[in-house]
Amino acid sequence: MNYRILTGEIEHEANTFSKVPTTLEHFRARGLLLGDEIPPARRGTRTALGAAFEAAEKFGWTLSHPLAASATPGGTVTNETFEQLCAWFLAGGEGCDGALINLHGAMVAEGFEDPEGEMLARLRAMLGPDAPIVATLDLHANVTEKMAANASALIAVRTYPHIDYYERTWQGAELVNRVLRGEIRPRTVIAKRPMLDGLDGGRTQAGPMRDLIDRGEALEVSGKALVVSVCAGFSWSDIYDVGPSVTVTADGDSTEARRIAEEFMDYAWETRAFVSTTDTEVSVAEALERAKAGEAGANKPLVIADIGDNPGGGAYGDTTDLLRAMIAADLQNAAFHAIYDPEAVQAGIVIGVGNKGRILLGGKQAPEMGGGPLEIEAQIVSITDGRFRCHGPSFLGGGAWRSFGPSLMLRVGGIEIGVISRPEQTIDLAQLSSIGIDPLHCATIALKSYHHFRAAFEPIAREVIKVDAGGLGSAGPRTYRHIRRPIWPLDEIQL
Ligand SMILES: [Zn+2]
Repeated sequence: MNYRILTGEIEHEANTFSKVPTTLEHFRARGLLLGDEIPPARRGTRTALGAAFEAAEKFGWTLSHPLAASATPGGTVTNETFEQLCAWFLAGGEGCDGALINLHGAMVAEGFEDPEGEMLARLRAMLGPDAPIVATLDLHANVTEKMAANASALIAVRTYPHIDYYERTWQGAELVNRVLRGEIRPRTVIAKRPMLDGLDGGRTQAGPMRDLIDRGEALEVSGKALVVSVCAGFSWSDIYDVGPSVTVTADGDSTEARRIAEEFMDYAWETRAFVSTTDTEVSVAEALERAKAGEAGANKPLVIADIGDNPGGGAYGDTTDLLRAMIAADLQNAAFHAIYDPEAVQAGIVIGVGNKGRILLGGKQAPEMGGGPLEIEAQIVSITDGRFRCHGPSFLGGGAWRSFGPSLMLRVGGIEIGVISRPEQTIDLAQLSSIGIDPLHCATIALKSYHHFRAAFEPIAREVIKVDAGGLGSAGPRTYRHIRRPIWPLDEIQL
């Protein structure tokens, strides 16, 4: 029998503290592909959809692929945007026997705190109670009862940096196939605790997250569970269902699945205060001292992550204080990637390649945090349309083409600076090389990312350090209005 399977992706992580609402323009900027645009962009790549296309061939499915939409993490999605994405996506679900889709799981829309749950509920209503609906998720998903109730299985990635969407989608495809063959009837249950944070922010190298992922995989191998997914949540979403979760998928009866999920969350609760000590955070001054001390004769870069302004967590991506300090320290053979500033890109285009001119760079989104605009005399070294191919291991990579909009590289003293027209964290070497920066031969690379950069940059670095030079992601007090209370670590709780 030839089955028709819905695939596609809708990816967004909402930082509800951002003042910039996310619209269709933000999806168009990172990637919004419809229908026939999708196969040439994703087939043959090591991405979620790349795996879905391969699985369809293996199992003889006809794929319906109406939509692949992804936006850089940012503010709450407007209702109009969410409904349009839903309409495109669900139109492709008509007449389908099942679905294998990729969602982020931490989207927030104006009308829906849990848009993924709403989308899955609409899809369930359309496909019926027994159709396999399997969704892969980011491990920073804020997973809800509604998502678990309406999906047959939720399969979160098991790596941070996230480099296993391809493998998780294949796992989902096998599950969809087994349901279609009548072998299993998967049901998914969820457990949570009153936790805003925990599971070490999702770090999978060691610690509680690693422990639970390993235990979950052992249960999958032994057949005691079909899927065990551990999510750390995303605390920048001010919603009722925020926080870590464990979902367990079992065939038929859910009693054992529920026991496993609760036991896992007991462990997450007990270890809630654990934080990896592998991350060294130093002051900007100390970072620059180390950079200066090591720049002569360096054969590998010192990588400095500017974690306060990580666009991967919804920060604005244009703070200037770290760059300002680097220029003041007169670093040589250094790179800074990147400042999000479409106006500065346009100004650089007017100045022209090879020429020098004054540019007002960055600090425009929220000048009160992380530094206002930086006035510099810069040489324009390169101008590109921003398109490049990512071969790195992280979620932007896998051989897929990406674009950060018109981009340029400019030089101030010994520092090469990337300027981009769409905010994005730095996680792939091609982001630098595509604008003419050679990451392998820099003495110092400063980048805006919290943790994802490690997959590509740790192997080439002589050392990785973190600095918090301010920005929306800076650890300051946040005023929550919608999360459930009491909740750890904001309230005293005895369980
Ligand atoms: Zn994530």
